[in-house]
Amino acid sequence: MCGIVGVVGAENTMGVLLDGLSRLEYRGYDSAGVAVYENSVKIIKSKGKIENLKKKVGNLSIPAGCGIGHTRWATHGEPSEVNAHPHYSYRKKVCAVHNGIIENYKEIKDFLLEKGYKFYSDTDTEAAVNLIDHYLNEDPISAIISAMKRIKGSYALAIIIENKQDVIYLAKKDSPLIVGIDKEKSYIASDIPAILPYTDKVYYMDNMELARVEKGKVEFFDINGDPIEKELHKISWSIDEAELGEYDHFMLKEIYEQPASILNTLKRYIKEDTIDFNSAGIDKNILSKINKVRILGCGSAYHVGVVIQNVIEELCKLPVRTEYASEFRYGSSECSKDELVIVISQSGETADTLFALRLAKSQGAKTVAVVNVVGSSIAREAEHTLYTMAGPEIAVATTKAYTAQITVCMLLAIELARVKNSINEGAYSKMISEIKEIPDKISKILEENKKIEELSLKFKNLQHAFMIGRRMDYGICLEGSLKLKEISYIHSEAYPAGELKHGTISLIENGTIVIGVMTQDEIIEKTISNLTEVKSRGAYIIGITYEGNAMISDACDKIIYLPKTFKLLYPILSAIPLQLLAYYVSVGRGLNVDKPRNLAKSVTVE
Ligand code: GLU
Repeated sequence: MCGIVGVVGAENTMGVLLDGLSRLEYRGYDSAGVAVYENSVKIIKSKGKIENLKKKVGNLSIPAGCGIGHTRWATHGEPSEVNAHPHYSYRKKVCAVHNGIIENYKEIKDFLLEKGYKFYSDTDTEAAVNLIDHYLNEDPISAIISAMKRIKGSYALAIIIENKQDVIYLAKKDSPLIVGIDKEKSYIASDIPAILPYTDKVYYMDNMELARVEKGKVEFFDINGDPIEKELHKISWSIDEAELGEYDHFMLKEIYEQPASILNTLKRYIKEDTIDFNSAGIDKNILSKINKVRILGCGSAYHVGVVIQNVIEELCKLPVRTEYASEFRYGSSECSKDELVIVISQSGETADTLFALRLAKSQGAKTVAVVNVVGSSIAREAEHTLYTMAGPEIAVATTKAYTAQITVCMLLAIELARVKNSINEGAYSKMISEIKEIPDKISKILEENKKIEELSLKFKNLQHAFMIGRRMDYGICLEGSLKLKEISYIHSEAYPAGELKHGTISLIENGTIVIGVMTQDEIIEKTISNLTEVKSRGAYIIGITYEGNAMISDACDKIIYLPKTFKLLYPILSAIPLQLLAYYVSVGRGLNVDKPRNLAKSVTVE
């Protein structure tokens, strides 16, 4: 889940590496390091944030034509300077950074120990680096191929090799790697933002591919060592989107970008008031054959699934199941040929979701990916990809990508309902006209930020919070609760409203905050009863509902109102106050909003 960056041919190699690492810090921030090559390899590493590495590098100007950098999210070995990447082989012939997990590192290490190699770190990476070193009597590409054939697991490896001045070698399996070219300079990275200031033309590497990157030049190879041609892609993201600008935090910036990101998403898929998925190759022919739906995702993407399951069931009258991708892939339930499998991932690199997609595909299901990063692995491997037009999302806690995912899935549900004739033209047009108003309605909610900031003070010294709702409101509670947990470290749990009394109600005491999301008329009264049950036991109740709903006033101590919309569209609105609340609670507690402890943005390990 780390960030990798590298450059060949820059005037200021160290500057490019440190700048790239800062842009990638959201991918991992346990430690960071760089290796530059000019006659010999020089490695500088430090524990913790990139800032520490920058201090260590100081004014050190190392004239170097080539370098690699890494920001780590530790999987094997504690976050420490010695375990930080880059790692150097025992014979000092190979230096590399790695993203992923070498699953058979122990077996490789034992093999190399017998050959006299010595190890200094606890990482799995060091085994791979030494294995390449071991094969280096062959030319570097052949040596890396020999190592790849022996390594099990996932890797994006950026490698520099003794006596190969101004060359970076790359190897990839199940972790992202891109190569960007700009005239005489070449850049490599795990993610686009790292190199976006320098080039917008990139190659995406595929699994079991290698590359030799030189000044302004790259050659790609397959696992047999045969050269391969790859397509150069132009990135549409602008550099401003990946910059903080006037905001204090990326999370706040991204919360405020939601009217624009949803508008862009709607513009992509609604043409003349009709949903149009032609850009993804999805048409009536495909959708009419669908008789059931499965939604797979991890974290917030799974929460999107919980919401959308309810929308599809209600609109399309089809059976839907939502599963954690990480569970589905080890389960024994089989997808069928008439099943639509929707896989959701912001980065398009979420390891568990990628494997779940491959499994669903192999079982013959129709697969559609909902992904934010163009050219990512999931986008390339799914049969159809619906891109969310959220732009780069930098804060670790997702906001704008999440609501863009809900929006895309909502459109997919509406279109499926139209094709399956489970809604009439009138209902279809009503939903289209209502969804087009969502961006303005989000702006209205954002104007109320001061009220939510005030409310956040109640959470300052809180230990626990609960969020309850039914059906799709429960899906929003799951997400709101995760937001609060991940950036404020307050323990929060989301419950289907009727479930508290089956055990968890014992945790309610005087002053416990319970948030109730109530947007669906036919079940609001039920949730009100559940809120009243906890209020009688001392809980402080915050309700989220639509403007003019007088039903909930007695049950709540505080109410956040949402602009009115079509009932199934409320989840896009009700998510917003919960995002703002989590944000202000985190700021109020003086925490690092954008880089919460132990987390990383794109989860490329299982
Ligand atoms: N497994 C490697 C390690 O612990 C790489 C982790 C990462 O992707 O940052 O060091």
